This record gives sequence, structure tokens and C-alpha cells, in this order.
Amino acid sequence: MSSSGELVELRFLGKVGYGEALDLQRSLVEHATAPYVLVLEHTSVITIGRRGDAANILDARDVPIVETDRGGDVTWHGPGQVVCYPIVDLGEDPGAAKAHVCKLENALATVVRRVADPAVVGEVGRLEGHPGIWVNLETDAPRKVGAIGVRSVRNPRGIRRSMHGVSLNVDCDLQAFRSIVPCGLSRPVTSLSDLGVTMAIREVAELVGHEVAEHLRPGSPVRSVQVMTGLTGIEGAQPVSLKRLAQAGVDATTSLSISQRKPEWLRSMVRLSDAVSTTRSAVASNRLVTVCEEAGCPNLSECWSDGTATFMVNGADCTRRCGFCLIGTAKPEALDADEPRRVAQAVAELGLAHAVVTCVARDDLADGGASGVANTILAIRTTSPDTQVEVLISDCKGDGPSLDVIFTERPDVLNHNIETVARLQRAVRPSAGYARSLGVLARAGQQGLVTKSGLMVGLGETMDEVAETLSDLAAVGVKIVTVGQ
Ligand code: SF4
Repeated sequence: MSSSGELVELRFLGKVGYGEALDLQRSLVEHATAPYVLVLEHTSVITIGRRGDAANILDARDVPIVETDRGGDVTWHGPGQVVCYPIVDLGEDPGAAKAHVCKLENALATVVRRVADPAVVGEVGRLEGHPGIWVNLETDAPRKVGAIGVRSVRNPRGIRRSMHGVSLNVDCDLQAFRSIVPCGLSRPVTSLSDLGVTMAIREVAELVGHEVAEHLRPGSPVRSVQVMTGLTGIEGAQPVSLKRLAQAGVDATTSLSISQRKPEWLRSMVRLSDAVSTTRSAVASNRLVTVCEEAGCPNLSECWSDGTATFMVNGADCTRRCGFCLIGTAKPEALDADEPRRVAQAVAELGLAHAVVTCVARDDLADGGASGVANTILAIRTTSPDTQVEVLISDCKGDGPSLDVIFTERPDVLNHNIETVARLQRAVRPSAGYARSLGVLARAGQQGLVTKSGLMVGLGETMDEVAETLSDLAAVGVKIVTVGQ
């Protein structure tokens, strides 16, 4: 069992899809060596626990329904609700799971008592036989303000850990609960705002995260990371802005000016060797795009001299505008169905032992461009069965089935870059997200793929933040990391 005094990793992740959060939890159960407490907000979803009754979903309308492996019946999650998933060792005590539930309920009750007017909420706590957090328990009409549903699982190393957790209604649409029989009970549901609390959801999330950490690991130090995400409230591609960097706490006045001449040791010289010419002609004759050229990579001649090139599929134009990237952002063209064959042809011509395939983000396509990547892996496997295939993929908007289209082709290395630390995500890659990228890597790792990620340094992050990011990548099972600039 984790001892008191062990560092608790507390992560405020912003808005995260239910499936992405589930992938993250499963990976943390398997790989994390420290207790993790995830605090987040879901997009609208109705979930049914293992003992749930589908008849308790009265009218889902267009809200997705997910069957999940926690205890409990039907519930709703969505905007305006704080969700907390602690992944901690439970130990072997037979009563540990029950004690874990009690601690979570006590943590939530503590938060409600701290923020709400006692005259309004009355007695707060658990209602015998009805899991969750209730207010006005002294009356004959108690109302439910928080839900609980946990699971105890054993990871491949035999360690028993917790999954799932608690949710607290802060300022959500209570109508959403009218489309279900929450937890199979015909009792009223309320929220903190309904109870007169005017605190922002972010502040309540902070309280929930810290109370849960303290209740589960009393007195332990807590390492808290707040994700600045581009996913909440930002529509479509947004350019990076110095303003966003400033909002994230980067002091531009102490940074290197973009016009300042870089030190000599940082400059790489172009070497036009025979190997560079051979690679260039294989790329040109097969009408291919390389990220090396499109992104103006300074290492082009070094890599091409070694017979390494990174082929870029799904076109030369991206639907996103990450601030560090030189890839074009015009409206992308339709996918070229012959492109996978031509990439495979170039790989064979160059006799590559290890082929790297990357892609632009194609948010205009239903599968985010996954089929183009999958077909390219398949084509290389067919023409060059001994060549190792590494793919550097986009997040496919975190859509599990789309990602699985790529994973099913079993690339030798599945690379997805997290790019920067949690605090700088919104400034650097506003259409992507820290939790989403961890979720992509977690899902790939659970399917037995070797996962790799990369991050840039020199954007204003601190060494501690780099260490936190590396810890999070390790905790979801990432095996290889590149650090660039
Ligand atoms: S998603 Fe990838 S290719 Fe598109 S702008 Fe961002 S880094 Fe560049």
C-alpha cells in the first residue's frame, strides 16, 4: 500500500472526453508509480455502471451513452460538473475499497460544507443505502449534489488500485438529470449554484482535488499541475499569440528575440551529399511530401545523408495552426488514394530499415485522417516487410475508434508528441490538449504498442514542469521521449 508521505500527483486537466479519461485511468492503473488524482470536466455523456439498468435512461436525445465498468447505475456527466478520478493503491485489506468510498464521500462533503451556506444545505453527507453526497439530510426531502462510482482493479504487477471516482454538480444544467433516473433513484438532484454558491468551477475544482488528495493520503506532499488547454471554449484553429504566452506566465522581456542571431553551434550547415540527392529524387519522382522540407527542418541534410526521411501523408496542408510549426494551413484537398502506394514505393527505393510517416491534422475528415495513415502502414508492410514503421500521428480529436484504425495496423513505434508542458499548451497548440495527448498515448499503450512522445524546450517552461511532463508520460507507459527545441 502507498505510504503516507508519498508524493501525490494532482492534475487539473480541463475538459476531457469520457473515453479519453477512461484510457488515461487504465494506463495510470497499469504504469503509474505514484498516486494520481485527476480533476476534470467531461463533455456531456450518460454512463451506465456494471449493475446499471438501461431502463433508467428516459430520454438521452443526442447525448452519447457509455457502458462503463464502475459500480453504480446511470448518471450524467457534463459541463459545469467537477469530476475527480483518484488512481491510488488500495492495498490488500478486504475493507479497503469500502474505506476508499467513505474517504471520497467525506472529501466531497467537506467541500460542500466549506462553500455552501449551512442554513441552505443543512446536514451534508451520505444517505444510508443511497451512494453519493446529499444535502438537507435532516429533512424528508434530501437532494443529491454529488455522485460516486468506483472500481478496484489489479494491474499486471498484481497491485490493487482504484479507478473512477466522484462528481460534484457545481453549475450544470440540472435538466440533464431529468433525462435519466440518476443512480436508479427517483430523488431530486441539485447543484452548488442551485444552493446559492457563486464560486467559479475552477475554484471548486481546486478544493475538490486538494480535499480528495488529503483524505486519501493525509499529510502527503502534493504536486499540482494545472493544464492550460485550448479545447475549452475555443472553436477551430487559432494562431499562437504572444498574449497567450504572457497569460501563461512567459516573460517575453527576458526571452531571446526572434530576430536575434542564433549562436554558431546551433546553426546547421546544408550538405548536399549523394544520399541527399537520392532521397530528394525518390521523394520528387513519387510526388511525395516530407515534413523535413515542409517544416523547414534544419537537420534535413544530416538525416537525408543517413537515408532517413519523414514522409508526410494526408496532404501538405493542416487544419490547425500550432504556433511553432511552418506547415501550410490552406484548406486541405481530398485525400490522395494512391499516396500510400507511392510512400511504400519510395521506402523500397531507398531501402529504408526504419521508415517514419507523419501526417498533418485533418479535422475536416470524420476520422481525422486515420485511414490515410493506416493505409500507408499497410502499403509499406506489403512492399518492405522487413522495414520498421514508425508513425507520428495527430490526436484524431481524441476519437477512440479513429485512433484504433491506425493502431490495428500495428506500427512498430506509435509516436504522438505532447509538444510542451501543461501550462503552455493553450499558447503553443491551441487546437490540441495535454490530457488529450496523454489519452492518445495511453490508448495506444493499452493496445500493446511501443509509444513515443516528444516535447520542445525553450518556450518558457521550467525544469520542474519538464520533469512533471516526463513523469506523466512515464505514468501512461510511454517508452521513448525526444526533447528538442
Ligand atoms: S497539427 Fe502538426 S502539422 Fe498541424 S500545425 Fe500543428 S504541429 Fe503543424
